Amino acid sequence: MYTLPELGYAYDALEPHIDARTMEIHHTKHHQGYTNNLNTVLEKYLALAETPVEKLLQTLDSLDMDAGDKTTLRNNGGGYLNHKLFWEIMNPNNKKDDALVAEITETFGSLEAMKETFNKNAGSQFGSGWSWLVRNAEGKLELYGTANQDSPYLKGHTPLLGLDVWEHAYYLKYQNNRGDYVGEWWNVVKLI
Ligand code: MN
Repeated sequence: MYTLPELGYAYDALEPHIDARTMEIHHTKHHQGYTNNLNTVLEKYLALAETPVEKLLQTLDSLDMDAGDKTTLRNNGGGYLNHKLFWEIMNPNNKKDDALVAEITETFGSLEAMKETFNKNAGSQFGSGWSWLVRNAEGKLELYGTANQDSPYLKGHTPLLGLDVWEHAYYLKYQNNRGDYVGEWWNVVKLI
């Protein structure tokens, strides 16, 4: 069964860009909720519970599950994995990944060009969702947004950078100003 992943840093470590209260609620309430719901649905399918959730999402269409349970797995398996990666990406102890920066520059022309498209995808996601930098099935970098908690693993892609644009991720500090949050978020990404 899945447990809530540790942040690995303090709730106030990302101040002033991401406030401590938002981090604490996001981690202990929202991420805990996805984790609990993931466990609850997997308890009904013990044969599937031994398979990593990444793999379950990659093969979701072919799983022998009730349609409603499949939706629950899609939403909460995605929510569990998306947030796990989100905390890792924002770890203040991260070091710059020079190989990734070089690959981004080669693929998108520059770091700035990649960020511009990433931010546009974050801003244009209607309602709740995520903006992603992923590695696709051909091994190439790609940028897109997804709705709700849909994970890039559903497409057989591996997420590298993901930005949560649900209102719960920014509303306390930024209210409706998603663009300000998106711009500030890059300050806590040390990987690139
Ligand atoms: Mn979230």
